[in-house]
This record gives sequence, structure tokens and C-alpha cells, in this order.
Amino acid sequence: MVKVKNLNETSDNPPPSGYSSWIEYWKTKTGKKLAICAHPHCNDVTGTNLVGAHVKKVGSNDNSWYIIPLCPEHNMINNEFDIMEELVSVNA
Ligand SMILES: [Zn+2]
Repeated sequence: MVKVKNLNETSDNPPPSGYSSWIEYWKTKTGKKLAICAHPHCNDVTGTNLVGAHVKKVGSNDNSWYIIPLCPEHNMINNEFDIMEELVSVNA
């Protein structure tokens, strides 16, 4: 599993041109129509109101930014967690 840390202060970062949101960007890149919150202890299985959160890998030389789907609750937390969903590079 991949451990990540949520990057705060990235909400002003606009999605790439052609995408209305970062979660749309994530869905397009993964080809998944349905996303679930990537946090392993999430009770939100509805997949509604997900946001495309910016994260970095923990314990890696890779300093790139990635997008994962998170529910609003888990988008607020700062600690590190293993993710249950695919990472999509911001620069994909
Ligand atoms: Zn969640």
C-alpha cells in the first residue's frame, strides 16, 4: 500500500484546463466512473461530495503531487494514511 500525506493550502490550485474539478480529472485519468474515499477507515461509501485532494507520497524520494479522491471529512485531516485508491499524478 502507498502511504500519503494530505497537502493543505492547495485548494486554490485550479484543475487542468478541460476539467471542471480535480475529482473529474482523477476519474478521467483512472477511467473510473465511481470513486470512493481513499481513506482506509472511511464510512462514506456513497461516493458523493468527494473532492480530488492533493497528496504527496510518504517515505519516498518522489516529491510529486498526486490526486486521490477524499470525502470532505478526510480532506480535512493532516496525518499520514495508507490509501485504498489509485494515485493520479497532477502532471499526468
Ligand atoms: Zn473519507
